[in-house]
Amino acid sequence: MTIRIGVDFGGTKIEAAALDSAGNFLARIRTANPGSYDAAIECVRDLIGRVEQEVGGKGSIGIGVPGSISPRSGLMRNANSTYLNGRTFREDLSAALGRDVRMANDANCLALSEVVDGAAAGAKVAFAIIIGTGCGGGLVVDGKLVEGANGIGGEWGHIPLPWPNPDELPGTECWCGQRNCLETWVSGTGLQRDFAAVNGASLDGGAIITGARAGEPAAAAALDRYIDRLGRAMALICNILDPDVFVLGGGLSNVEELYQRLPDAIRPYVFSDMWEARIVPARWGDSSGVRGAACLWQ
Ligand SMILES: [Zn+2]
Repeated sequence: MTIRIGVDFGGTKIEAAALDSAGNFLARIRTANPGSYDAAIECVRDLIGRVEQEVGGKGSIGIGVPGSISPRSGLMRNANSTYLNGRTFREDLSAALGRDVRMANDANCLALSEVVDGAAAGAKVAFAIIIGTGCGGGLVVDGKLVEGANGIGGEWGHIPLPWPNPDELPGTECWCGQRNCLETWVSGTGLQRDFAAVNGASLDGGAIITGARAGEPAAAAALDRYIDRLGRAMALICNILDPDVFVLGGGLSNVEELYQRLPDAIRPYVFSDMWEARIVPARWGDSSGVRGAACLWQ
């Protein structure tokens, strides 16, 4: 039996899963991100060991990570688990595991997983968006992941919020060193930050959504602003890549209102007399990351 192992290296949790060649789960284990480099290597090695013990065999290993690997230096960059940046994470994991490891950006893994056998199956141009702790993007064209000449294909979170309103400028400084990045607005963290900035009181993302549904004015206004900003950010992608499917993953992808209201938020900004595309939640939900990582060996 062919065993493919995918690891989803998230900012808060790390999950490893073993899949058979038909995409069925054979085992899956998750644990908290230990928050430091050496412990993370240890943690991934341990998770893979436990998964392989459970299925009784060794598998190929693919890992989805926040950020990407520089094709020039082989060093990690752009990860919001910033302790990974500047490290040879793939080589160090390969050494720890004693075998070759494939690695890709987590949003690229989501995109690949959803095109292979998920919500974007059959898409010509699929753009996947992660809206969770951070904000990432991944592009798959004709079934192939587009990592690009510099390994930043689909990277979307660290461009400035387009068509800004005067009150959105100059924007917040982002951990990446730029200002007014999409991640500071359309991630879950961004939604909370905006609510706190406007209302002077903090509320977590779930409470903002619940409040908006209950008609609580401050929460409803925060959700309105959020959808408007995400719509503008997606319209920018439409004007460059014109995807036929957008797949949404991450915590905020569970918010049903997005699928109802985003088309009207996108359309005014698209440079076309008409605009149609599907906007769908990741079929595999939280599992898209591990499934896409496992797909890196397909
Ligand atoms: Zn940034």
